[in-house]
Amino acid sequence: MKPLIGITADVANTDTQLLKNAYVQAIIQAGGIPIILPACNDEDIPQLLSNLSGLLLSGGNDLNPLLFNEEPHRSLGEVTPSRDVFELALVQRALELDMPILAICRGIQVLSIVCGGEVYQDIVQQHEGTSHQHHQNAPRKHPSHSVSVEKGSLLHTIVNHHKLIVNSFHHQSVKKLPPGFRLASIATDGIIEAIESCEHQFVLGVQWHPEELAIHDDKDSIKLFDHFIKKCRS
Ligand code: MN
Repeated sequence: MKPLIGITADVANTDTQLLKNAYVQAIIQAGGIPIILPACNDEDIPQLLSNLSGLLLSGGNDLNPLLFNEEPHRSLGEVTPSRDVFELALVQRALELDMPILAICRGIQVLSIVCGGEVYQDIVQQHEGTSHQHHQNAPRKHPSHSVSVEKGSLLHTIVNHHKLIVNSFHHQSVKKLPPGFRLASIATDGIIEAIESCEHQFVLGVQWHPEELAIHDDKDSIKLFDHFIKKCRS
């Protein structure tokens, strides 16, 4: 049996819920069956999750900073409040079930906030050392900046390298690790690029977009998705 993997949909302009095809294709390529999860009623989350073996949090807009007790910074981008509320509740419940979670881009911010970490609303304005172009102008499949892979991390176990070259489409990032999490990857300008739970079987957040790289034959991104699906199977 192939595992059913829920992928959160993006919410746009309050009238559309959509998802980039790369997420769907990367899950299929790794041997899972993708199910797109629209933002819906919180009360239905337990039933929704009971039918799934894993959760992939997709990228999208900025998080509403009031959810983490901050006022909106002047450089905050567009927010999608209905998606925020749904995803925070979804991740909370999935963590309680110890369901495998792969959190991508916006997803790493969601994961961080649910677990008690902190995020930058805008790294250019709020993180003094930010010097790299973290919102690349190159195509999505192009790996544009390097990141470390921390020794002893789950990410290191999966890719077995000390360094990766990744794509980058973010202006927010994790500011402070949540309790019970370890650093898995950092860029050379000090921006946190991946975090993982020490208390769950597979809860990994990455700031880049491995789905775009995996469907363009990037070996390390393929390993990441394969490992995720393997965990969802067990
Ligand atoms: Mn980056």
